[in-house]
Amino acid sequence: MARPFGVYVHYPYCTHRCPYCDFAVTTERPPGAGRYARAVRAELGLRAPAFEGLSLRSVYLGGGTPSLWDADELRDVLAAVRDRFGLPGGAEVTLEVNPESSDPARLEAWRAAGVNRISVGAQSFDPGVLAKLGRRHGPERAEQAIREAAAAIGNVSVDLIYGARRSSVETARRDAERAVEAGAVHVSAYALTLDPDVMAEEVPLARMRREGRLPLPSDEDALAQAAALRAALRRLGLRRYEISNFARPGRESVHNGLYWRHESYLGLGAGAYGCRRGDAGSVRYGNLRDAGAWLATVEAGRLPTAEEDRIDARADRNERLMLALRTRDGAPLAALGPAQTREAADLVRHRLAVRRDGALVLTSRGLDLHSAISERLFE
Ligand code: SF4
Repeated sequence: MARPFGVYVHYPYCTHRCPYCDFAVTTERPPGAGRYARAVRAELGLRAPAFEGLSLRSVYLGGGTPSLWDADELRDVLAAVRDRFGLPGGAEVTLEVNPESSDPARLEAWRAAGVNRISVGAQSFDPGVLAKLGRRHGPERAEQAIREAAAAIGNVSVDLIYGARRSSVETARRDAERAVEAGAVHVSAYALTLDPDVMAEEVPLARMRREGRLPLPSDEDALAQAAALRAALRRLGLRRYEISNFARPGRESVHNGLYWRHESYLGLGAGAYGCRRGDAGSVRYGNLRDAGAWLATVEAGRLPTAEEDRIDARADRNERLMLALRTRDGAPLAALGPAQTREAADLVRHRLAVRRDGALVLTSRGLDLHSAISERLFE
């Protein structure tokens, strides 16, 4: 049977740059007259041959702020993806939206274009946390956007950030509760991470952190916030199925599930990443991050690749193991070699993992140590 894959489309335009963001984004005006959508379709034509023979399961429109994208252009891109690969009826099509660029009319246009899942970038419902994150929306707008999306489309995920300035155990718990009360059936919750060495010039909060001018909650505080958030979601019926992701049963993300199951993904747009898995290893590519350079390259008929890594079979097996350990399904015990099996037994002895249904599954304490545990198990 054909292996599954997903398509990720990156829309890099934002009205302003949030001070913690190191994604491939620009605050330049989007090119008008359908130019970005045409270029995405052109890149699809260039990259599609490498993904022939796979079976498309999901499309994810992320950014940036793809909710700023003209709905007709978005519809044309989805239609082109569907024409090229076919998409089973009901397959997951997710659109990321910012609360300030979502309203009932746009939701209806997105639904008509084929979007059946909305991911709302709420981040928090606490006005102090939102202000320190430099977000433009207030708590009420975020709640309203979730309610409207739940009414129009039904399948709504909410992004939350904890461990930020002004975050506390109380704000983390309330954020989880307010997201679900407003209608979220899925929550992605991440600690604020600011790498002081990466893109520090473009990311003001990372620069402040490097210069010691940004007081953040301690690691212990952030862990306590994460625990409070998890407990609230569990109480409300959302199960943790991956380190940072929670869902009502049956509402787990199909698209992200492909990443965690080590399947291929075709990335399109400025700054997008893609990966073609194969028996002998994988080929991962990253597109030009600069939107103008990406447009010019695609319009000249060339692949807009900025970087390409060939991952050999052993590194690929390690990556597969690391990704599987992020999830509630865990890593198949049968795939472990003798040394890895001994390590696994040690993890079980220390209650960092359990054996369940033929898989090694990290416990809650083990998930907190996921990176270190994965490295211990690497071939
Ligand atoms: S809206 Fe999202 S993608 Fe755009 S700058 Fe803010 S965090 Fe980054």
